[in-house]
Order: sequence, then C-alpha cells, then structure tokens
Amino acid sequence: MPVVSEATCTNKKGCRRCFDACPGHSVPLNEIAKNCFNSHETKTDEKIGRYLGCFTGYSTDYDIRYHCASGGMLSQFLIWLLEKKHIDGAVVTKFSRENELLVESFVATTKEEILSAKSSKYSPVTLNHAIQNIKSREGKYIIVGLPCHIHGFRKYEKMDGKFCEKIAGYFGLYCSGGRTFYLTEYIFKERNIIKKELAYFAYRDEGCLGSLVAGGISGTTLKPFRVAERFQQYYHPLRSFFKPRRCLQCIDHFAELADISFGDIHIEPYSQDTVGVNSVIVRNPQFLKWLHEASADGCMEIKPLEEQKLIESQFQKRQKNTLFLKLEKLCRRKTPQYDVELKNKITVKSIFSYFFTLTQIFIGKHKILWFMIFLLKKKPPIE
Ligand SMILES: Cc1cc2nc3c(=O)[nH]c(=O)nc-3n(C[C@H](O)[C@H](O)[C@H](O)COP(=O)(O)OP(=O)(O)OC[C@H]3O[C@@H](n4cnc5c(N)ncnc54)[C@H](O)[C@@H]3O)c2cc1C
Repeated sequence: MPVVSEATCTNKKGCRRCFDACPGHSVPLNEIAKNCFNSHETKTDEKIGRYLGCFTGYSTDYDIRYHCASGGMLSQFLIWLLEKKHIDGAVVTKFSRENELLVESFVATTKEEILSAKSSKYSPVTLNHAIQNIKSREGKYIIVGLPCHIHGFRKYEKMDGKFCEKIAGYFGLYCSGGRTFYLTEYIFKERNIIKKELAYFAYRDEGCLGSLVAGGISGTTLKPFRVAERFQQYYHPLRSFFKPRRCLQCIDHFAELADISFGDIHIEPYSQDTVGVNSVIVRNPQFLKWLHEASADGCMEIKPLEEQKLIESQFQKRQKNTLFLKLEKLCRRKTPQYDVELKNKITVKSIFSYFFTLTQIFIGKHKILWFMIFLLKKKPPIE
C-alpha cells in the first residue's frame, strides 16, 4: 500500500500523481479495458478479459525461437515492427552485470538490442524511468511488461497526454506471480554459482520452456564452467517461497490491459514441442492486423487457438488469488480495489493453501530458514 512521504516528495504542488498512478491500491481493470478495447469485434471472457483473438505461434528464425522464453514471438514481433518502421523502439529488460540488481530496463532501438533483452527475468523489474526516457525522444514506442507494470502505465496515461502520444502499445506477459531477488540468490547458492564469475545467465534458454543456463570462468580453477538445468526441474519445485506478497493480491494473469499478451502453452499437443511455442491474446485491432502481416511476411508462424484450450493451459491465478484477496480482507490486511466481482467462495482447501503460501513466503524472506525450503520443496515433474 503506497504512502506519499511528504518529507521527501520534491513535487511542491502536492499533486500526488504518483499515488494516483500506483496500481498498489487500486486497479479499475474493467473500466480501463472497456475504454481501451471497444471494437465491435471485441469478445469478453471472465478469465482472459477483453480480446479479439487467441493464437499459438513461434518465430520462424530458429535461433530466436530456441533462445527466447517461449517461442520468441514477442521479440520477433518487436523486430518486425521496428524493421517496418511502425515503431521507433521498445522498452525491454536485460541482464546487466554492472547493475547490482542484475536486471535493467532500457529503450531498445535495434534488432540486436531487442535480442539482448530476450527471455524471462524472474526478479523485480522497475520500468518507472521509461516515462521520462520515452518523453525525451521522438517517435512511437512499445512498453513490454508484466500485468502490474501495465496497470501502472494505463493509470498514468490519463494524467500525461505527452507520454500517451509516444506510446504505440503495450506488450504484456502472462504472469502467475513475480519473484523477489532472493530467488536468484537462492538458486545461485544451491548451485555454487558466483555472480561476479558469470559471463552469461538466463532463467530460460535453449528450447521450449527452456533451462537455466549459466556460464563463465571459475575464479578458483580459472577454467570455463557451464550449468544447465531444465526450467521445470529447478523453478517449479520452489513453489511460492520467493513470491512477493502483493502478487497474491493480483487477479490479472493474462495482462488484460495489454494490446497483445504473450505466454507459454504447456498442454498437449504443444508440450511435445522442444524448440519453442507461444500462446498469444490480441486485443487491439491494429496489432491484430500487424500480426497477420508479420505472419504473411514469413517471420512467424501463427494458428488460431480455442479460448478454452488457452485457459486450460494456464495456472488459475484469478480463481486462487480471488480467494486469497478475500482471506487477506478477513485478516484485516489492506488490499487493492478492483472493479471486478470476486465470485469464488472461501473453502477449507483455500484457507489451507493461503496459510501454506504465507508460510512459504515467510521462509523465503528469512535466509536463516532457507534450509526448510529443501525439506518443503515440491518434487520436480516427470518430463
Ligand atoms: C515473472 C513472470 C511470470 C510469468 N508467468 C507466466 C505464466 O504463468 N504462464 C505463461 O504462459 N507465461 C508466463 N510468463 C511469460 C513467459 O515466461 C514468456 O515471457 C512469454 O511467453 C513470452 O515469450 P517469448 O518467447 O515470446 O518472449 P521473448 O521473445 O523471450 O521476450 C520476452 C520479453 O519480455 C521482457 N521481460 C522478461 N521478463 C520481464 C520482466 N520480469 N518484466 C518486464 N519485462 C520482462 C524481455 O525483456 C523481453 O523483451 C511469465 C513471465 C515472467 C517474467
């Protein structure tokens, strides 16, 4: 829950715009979606929000498809939009050895820069500086972010017409929940990876869903080292140990306020794929047209996808977090306001799940308790 610090705020007018734009305390999901996506062909689904069409697909460039998080469609689409001069750049997030936090966002204006930011970053990412950065440039830009990032930008748009003019659209990532910086610290610790020895790191690389890949020169033996471990084998067993608590209160899985959202599709027959495949939800008619043009140009392969199949393929975050929200309220915790009816009823199972999740978060936050993660870890799925 944000609090404006009157003592440190440099804005003498006391405008509180930061508070108003902050998605922490409220997100009028339905109202914003209605204003943004109101073409006569727009459909509405309780779980995926407003949309025009759903697709599966992948980049036809093998390297992009293989090395990106899912099927490389997000990066490939940005590259196509840049090459066709529909946009002048995109705000993306890359690893940075210089940055203490390991990740940093920037405005990419070339294919190489877009690819330098490929794949998923499972750590907190701030895009706040994107506003000033974009406003100081000529042209139109896309912002790539998680549902919560896009909530903030959509709320901010209303207050800043100049920023709004520079935005070509938002590319959203589906999100079942973010992770704290401790996730990376924990996985490095478990595998004896030393951050300063790294020359390369990815949470997901080399194929569909991919693997953690780390490489560099060992400081003790001075020999090159390489670690590769399947995503589902190291990430899924870690349950919610490193989930930020605010993520339990988020009901937007599919980035409902993005012009187009990208995710995995790990369900038969797509789970047989070993190179990479995406699912995609399009909400803005302009992006639907461009997606078809990009596909006709041969840079990506797309096929229509039934909504039901898409929903089946995903973790039911909205259902689960609606119950968590109700339980948080019952425990008198402050919760964000949504203009969405929270229908599900609290059950014994949901109460158990809520307290078990809170226990995991507590353990994840306290390094002294990390030995318990080893005991409470889930068994990795059989692949
Ligand atoms: C925290 C998190 C949770 C996710 N949860 C799910 C899920 O439950 N189900 C699902 O199907 N998919 C989920 N995804 C999305 C999935 O991992 C892929 O990012 C998505 O399928 C796009 O794949 P791609 O190959 O098209 O993307 P790529 O071509 O690899 O491009 C990914 C783009 O996203 C940007 N990016 C990566 N991480 C972040 C971040 N943390 N914040 C802002 N920008 C970022 C990169 O800079 C890059 O531009 C999640 C992603 C993240 C980061």
